[in-house]
Amino acid sequence: MDNFFAADIATVDPLISRAIDDEVRRQTNGLELIASENFVSEAVLQTMGTVFTNKYAEGYPAKRYYGGCEYADVVENAAIDRAKEIFGAEHANVQPHSGAQANMAVLMTALDHGDTILGMNLSHGGHLTHGHPLNFSGINYKVADYGVNKETEQIDYDELQKKAEESRPTLLICGASAYPRTIDFERIGEIARSVGAKVMADIAHIAGLVATGLHPSPVPHCEFVTTTTHKTLRGPRGGLILCREEFAADINRSVFPGVQGGPLVHIIAAKAVAFGEALRGDFKAYQQQVIDNAKVLAETLAAAGLRIVSGGTDNHLLLVDVFMDGKGITGKVAEKALDEVHITVNKNTIPFDTQKPFVASGIRIGTPALTTRGMKTDEMRQIGEMIAAIIHEPESEAVKTRVKQGVAEITARFPMYPGRLKREEAISAA
Ligand SMILES: *Cc1c(COP(=O)(O)O)cnc(C)c1O
Repeated sequence: MDNFFAADIATVDPLISRAIDDEVRRQTNGLELIASENFVSEAVLQTMGTVFTNKYAEGYPAKRYYGGCEYADVVENAAIDRAKEIFGAEHANVQPHSGAQANMAVLMTALDHGDTILGMNLSHGGHLTHGHPLNFSGINYKVADYGVNKETEQIDYDELQKKAEESRPTLLICGASAYPRTIDFERIGEIARSVGAKVMADIAHIAGLVATGLHPSPVPHCEFVTTTTHKTLRGPRGGLILCREEFAADINRSVFPGVQGGPLVHIIAAKAVAFGEALRGDFKAYQQQVIDNAKVLAETLAAAGLRIVSGGTDNHLLLVDVFMDGKGITGKVAEKALDEVHITVNKNTIPFDTQKPFVASGIRIGTPALTTRGMKTDEMRQIGEMIAAIIHEPESEAVKTRVKQGVAEITARFPMYPGRLKREEAISAA
C-alpha cells in the first residue's frame, strides 16, 4: 500500500498499461476514418483522469444530495454555461453518461409508455434509440418510421409530412448516424407542429458543425436537442441535452433521478474543457476543414469509380456503395481489407440495401479524427486513392504492401499525444 497514491500504472498493472500503450500506437499509426470518432486534446484527456472521479454529486449545482460539492459545482456550472453559449440554448443538462442516455431522458420527458414516436429508419441512417425493436425506444413506445427517397437518397420531407399525418406521433425524432446531407430542422419543426407533435433533434454526429454555424441549428425549431460530446464536438465520451426553459425542470428530473444516479464529475469537467475549446475561433476553422476534407474524399472515391450515396456530402461523413449491385465487394469485406492496411472504417447499410446489416453494401467514412491530426485535402486525395485501390483489388498483396507504406508515410507526418506512451520499449518500438 506504500505506493497506493504514487505508483504509476506501468508498475501497478503491466497488462493494462501495455494495452494502453498499444492503443496509443494503434491510433497513431493508423488512419482513423470512423465517422463517430475523434481525438480529444491532451487537456481533455488529463481532465478525465482527475480526482473528480472520486466524487458523488447526485443532484444539480447548489442542490446536491452530498456534501463537499463546491468544486463539482464549479465544473458543472462551467459546462452548463459554455454549452448554452455554444448552442444558444436556454437550458443545458450536461450529466447524461452517453448519447443513448440523453435520448432516454428526453423520451421519458416527452412521452408516456405506449405513445407513438416517428423516427428515421435505422437502415436509412437513423439510430438505435430512435425506435429499434431491441432498444428501450422500440420496446416502450409505438414506432413509426420515415426514410430517404429511393432516387435522391435524401430525406423526403413530403413523405415525412404524410407519415406524420398517418401515424400522429407524440414525438418526432430527427437526426442520424449515417446521413451525409444537411437536415432541414426548420421544415421538420413545421411538420411536427402541423400534427401537434414535439421534436427531438439528435445531433450526435453533427454537433461540431452546428456549434460553429456550418450546419443549420435545430435549437430554434425543436423542443429538445440531444447530442453526444465525443464525435465532431471533440470532447470526452458523453451526452448533452439542450431545451427551452419551460422543459428544464422536467428534463433534469428525467436525467436524475429518472435514468441515472451520480453524475461523472470528471467527465463533466472534461466536457467543460472541450466546450471551452469549441468556443475558440480556431474550432470553426477545424470544422470547415472537416467538411472540405469529406468533400475531397468523396470526389476522389467517385473519380475512382465508386458510387457515393446521395451523390456527395454536405457534412463530415460519406457513405460509399462498395457493392454496386454485385459489381464490387460487400461492406464487410471492404472493412476487413481496409483494416489489414491500417485504414479504419465501418461497414454500413445503404438505403434500400439488399444485404443484411452485418454484411452491408456500404462503408461509412468520416473525416473528424484525421482533420484533428492536421490532415488537409492533399492527404484526403492520397487516402481516397488508397481506399479505392484496396476496394478494387482487395486480394492483391502488391496493393496491400503499397498502401501500407502510404499509410505509414502519412501517419508519420502527423504525430499525436507526445508523452502518452508509458514504457520506454514501447516508445522505441513505435
Ligand atoms: C452515436 C449516436 C448516439 C449514441 O451515442 P452513445 O454515446 O454511443 O450512446 C445517439 N444518436 C445518434 C444519432 C448517434 O449517432
